[in-house]
Amino acid sequence: MCSHRRLPIILVVLLTAVAVVLVQSSLAADKPGAADSDKAAGQFLAAYEAEVRPLEIAVNLAWWKANTSGKDEDFAAKVEAQNKYDEKLADRKRFAELKAIHEGKLSDKTVARQIDMLYRAYLEKQVDPELLKRITAKANEIEKAFNVYRAKVAGKEIADSEVRRILKESKDSKERQAVWESSKGVGKTVAADLKELVFLRNEAARKLGFKNYHAMQLYLNEQDQEQVVKLFDELDELTRGPFAAAKREIDVKLAANYAIDVDELQPWHYHDPFFQESPSIFDSQLDQVFANNDILALCRKFYTGIGLPIDDVIARSDLYEKPGKSPHAFCTDIDRVGDVRVLANIVPSEYWMGTMLHELGHSVYSSKNIPPTVPYAARTASHILTTEGVAMMFERFSKSGEWLDKMGASVPDPKKYTETGMKMRRNQLLIFSRWCQVMLRFEKAMYENPGQDLNALWWSTVEKYQLLKKPAGRNEPDYGSKIHVVSAPAYYHNYMMGQLFACQVHATIAREVLHSSDPPQAIYTDNKQVGEFMKSRVFAPGALLSWNALTKHATGEELNAKAFAAEFTAK
Ligand SMILES: [Zn+2]
Repeated sequence: MCSHRRLPIILVVLLTAVAVVLVQSSLAADKPGAADSDKAAGQFLAAYEAEVRPLEIAVNLAWWKANTSGKDEDFAAKVEAQNKYDEKLADRKRFAELKAIHEGKLSDKTVARQIDMLYRAYLEKQVDPELLKRITAKANEIEKAFNVYRAKVAGKEIADSEVRRILKESKDSKERQAVWESSKGVGKTVAADLKELVFLRNEAARKLGFKNYHAMQLYLNEQDQEQVVKLFDELDELTRGPFAAAKREIDVKLAANYAIDVDELQPWHYHDPFFQESPSIFDSQLDQVFANNDILALCRKFYTGIGLPIDDVIARSDLYEKPGKSPHAFCTDIDRVGDVRVLANIVPSEYWMGTMLHELGHSVYSSKNIPPTVPYAARTASHILTTEGVAMMFERFSKSGEWLDKMGASVPDPKKYTETGMKMRRNQLLIFSRWCQVMLRFEKAMYENPGQDLNALWWSTVEKYQLLKKPAGRNEPDYGSKIHVVSAPAYYHNYMMGQLFACQVHATIAREVLHSSDPPQAIYTDNKQVGEFMKSRVFAPGALLSWNALTKHATGEELNAKAFAAEFTAK
């Protein structure tokens, strides 16, 4: 045995010696190149920080001002700041330098990572300027058509909010059908322009070396189509059953509300025109709880309790309704050295409890907790999906009565609150996940072959993933009535992947920090270890790890659908 082992060791030594010689000779050959590349990369990053950082801060400040004031001049200043930033990244000479560095060998992993991030950011802005103008003009034209389009019922124009009200409240199937069909009419108005836009986008992508626009968008976001589709196949597999069960329950309730049979349900019976949200049919009293509880105080207490205090963020934020202000909510890291702010419009409701937990979740995953030792270019979240994921992970607690109770909020019946909240959450997540399947697969196929029968493609995808029935004989460009196809192309899947990330990190915290045997039910309030976990496992690398490397670093596994699916199969 012993001698048997000895020989291979000698061989290994010999082979290692050969390998060392080989490595040395290849190093010697590469050495001048690598050192030159390292030097060039270092210079590029320094120039980037000096030139682009002030423009980035200006964009963020202008954005904040416009959205809090709503004034025309502030919006004009925002556009101007954005243009200056875009122009800098479009600079051909700089891009040529960057491309050469990106193609060369870099010995420092941290530098290589930053160069790769910047390469993608600059590449996006390298579209042929003439072509870009045509694309922007075409997209604007379509968006304008959306803005002026009004559904008509019985010859009378009705506002978008009225469409939504009728689809939510009307018990009259005929009226619902008329409103739904009319709301889809905008698709017909824009279909020809949309097809042209898709061709133009594909042309731009091909000029930059991609097979089509969808493939390019994913590349720019550090994803590839095969990888994302594989993940969505897994998601489909694991949630098809729970979704079908949830939909059956919804269908029974809806059919009863309209006094029709379940088989008679049509797409216009589902409240949301695309069935991307859950119909509001399960009696929800969650909002009442917030009449007596201060949302902001609960958030402050929660984030302090887990060791991620946000008092400085609140002090800089703009949190309540006022004239001219954006009605939405968002969080922004202005300068990557701790000036982090939230814009919100808090009113006492479960929705705003969740939204504030969400936005403040973004705020803790920022330069507040990403160490200043992480270089500027990477001192941000790893990816849009990881920051959305962190925000969604904290948002979940607004639907837990036990969590609110533990936080000291007054909740008359925490168990009942949780029951309702969990059902809402289940329906929302499952329905949204099916909708994301439709968007991902439809857009991918559309950019692959824009000349195909898109009406048929849309409905076959909707039927397969959302289990809706195409109305008999319908042959209309219904995909064209979804504005995101125009204004946020190839993007929806990131929200879904963010949700998978949220569930996967939550399950890891449940296991490793809380030692819980039932991760989907796990809650925490006063536990600094949670903040420590987030800082070391999720925040510390900033963007120095790509989204999937970060997922592995944080949870031990690459991003997958198991933890998400477990939320719907657990007892
Ligand atoms: Zn968000």
